[in-house]
Amino acid sequence: MVAARPLLSIVVPFFNEGANVERLFLRLTPFLESLDLAWEVVCVNDGSRDDTLDRLLAAHGRDSRIKVIDLSRNFGKELALSAGLAHSQGDAVVPMDADLQHPPETVRDMIAKWREGYDVVYAIRHARIGQGLAARLFARGFYWTFEHLAEIPLPREAGDFRLMDRKVVDVINRMPERSRFMKGIFAWVGFRQIGIPYQQGERVEGGTKWGFVKLLRFAFDGLTSFSNFPLRVWSYIGAMIAGLSFFYIVIRVIRTLIYGVDIPGYESILIIMLFLGGMQLLTLGILGDYLGRVFNEVKGRPLYIVRSTHGFEDGDSSRRK
Ligand code: UDP
Ligand code: MG
Repeated sequence: MVAARPLLSIVVPFFNEGANVERLFLRLTPFLESLDLAWEVVCVNDGSRDDTLDRLLAAHGRDSRIKVIDLSRNFGKELALSAGLAHSQGDAVVPMDADLQHPPETVRDMIAKWREGYDVVYAIRHARIGQGLAARLFARGFYWTFEHLAEIPLPREAGDFRLMDRKVVDVINRMPERSRFMKGIFAWVGFRQIGIPYQQGERVEGGTKWGFVKLLRFAFDGLTSFSNFPLRVWSYIGAMIAGLSFFYIVIRVIRTLIYGVDIPGYESILIIMLFLGGMQLLTLGILGDYLGRVFNEVKGRPLYIVRSTHGFEDGDSSRRK
């Protein structure tokens, strides 16, 4: 082996992707061999309940450059990815989905840009295949809100599929927060970034792991981990309502002095009470959300738990019972 060849790490999270394992390596391995780089594929088994792990270990048996991290349970894609990034050794690291929605061929263009001196080369989805209008609108609304509230420009249609230089990966590995909204973290770290277009493939096997509720939760998580605006906005709204109420009180007092007391007004009182009550509950909910986040961070639990690793030089635990 030529020692000077830079190492490329591909990091792939797997959650119940048994049907995709062989298909992925069938396409990925020949591609990696065609590059003039040394390579490794870091596979993270994110608590799959099917035969994903066995198939990954078989792949590792065939080629030791395919390495496997087995997590103790399902931690979610973001944390699985964090585990993979932490274990990767490459001078350049590319996270990639197991379902072949990220065409390996795009990596060649990424490497070209990396060699030009860019630290991050993110892939921009050309068209959203297999997504309905509602999903597209939701995504668009999310990007708009995030950019305006978090004040971090989030590249449109860019996901986790990207090449990162070692120095970027090192920074990300040092970020201790638990709620890892990777898209935001990737953008937040800065460095010299550039986007290249790619055509997202269709998922071949199985269904997407994202339901609408999970997606909504994810979007809200992303927003609240990068912006304090949802916390602050209530002081503005509160001040506005207090101001308006003051004028209203003055008007009522003058009216009463001129026209005397009139009994009707039941509806307006009811409406104001309901409105304020609702707003207070909403505010409490948002406070609670941030408090919960602080609580989670303060506990300081590990981000993920590794059950075993296969193929890593330092402290490998390949023994299987
Ligand atoms: N994934 C994971 N843990 C999870 C959910 C998903 O590791 O809890 C992996 C999954 O196996 C795939 C990638 O994350 O490799 C993207 O998942 P999916 O294709 O379901 O998401 P989408 O492409 O629809 O965004
Ligand atoms: Mg997918």
